[in-house]
Amino acid sequence: MAPNRIENLLLETLPQPYRSSICSRLEEVVLPAGTVLFEAEEVPRYAWFITSGLASKMVSMADGRSAEISMCGSEGVVPSWHLLGGMPQGPTRCIVQMEMKALRIPFPELQRELQRSEPLRQLVLRCVQRRCMILSQNAACNRLHDAEQRLARWLLTARDLTGTNSVSLSQGFLADILGSRRTTVTLAAGVLRRKKLISYRRGHIQILDHEKLKGAACECYETVQGLFRNFYG
Ligand SMILES: [Zn+2]
Repeated sequence: MAPNRIENLLLETLPQPYRSSICSRLEEVVLPAGTVLFEAEEVPRYAWFITSGLASKMVSMADGRSAEISMCGSEGVVPSWHLLGGMPQGPTRCIVQMEMKALRIPFPELQRELQRSEPLRQLVLRCVQRRCMILSQNAACNRLHDAEQRLARWLLTARDLTGTNSVSLSQGFLADILGSRRTTVTLAAGVLRRKKLISYRRGHIQILDHEKLKGAACECYETVQGLFRNFYG
């Protein structure tokens, strides 16, 4: 059942009447934070077109540590690169980060649809291309920029994708997002709090001054913001 307004950029970009046709086959779901969308090395059961909220793609190591490699919002489809063919599984798992509303379709059905529909295939390819570009920026950012800059950047990107200034995250999840120790995360959040850019209490982070927070973020924020802004350009 499709809602009156889609609120997913990929679906909104599809030409009519095809857009209405595919939307009529989507099921609307609400998923709480912490829901696993797909596990590493497993074929996803569904594909989701997020309409609100946020999901994180994570990679876990053998010692149990994990790090976020990218975040996904209402700009595209999750998963995306799994749809390209070959073996539809990989090392990433995907978790709902902030309560999510989405339109879902069984993954094999979307795979088949991709073979049939040229407009859908073109948009999924662009979605994958943009996400690969963002992923390459993330790789350099994680290597070169400090936790305070990356936390500021993450909060600003989450704000852009969800339209909200407040985020509820456990400290453990923040450490996963930044791929840093909990003490490093606490220090980074403390620096931003003392500058009165955020408030941070019991896992609830509120952006107090997003313009000044941009000054605390690394250059990667503007680069990635540009890629999100022109997602299907
Ligand atoms: Zn950076």
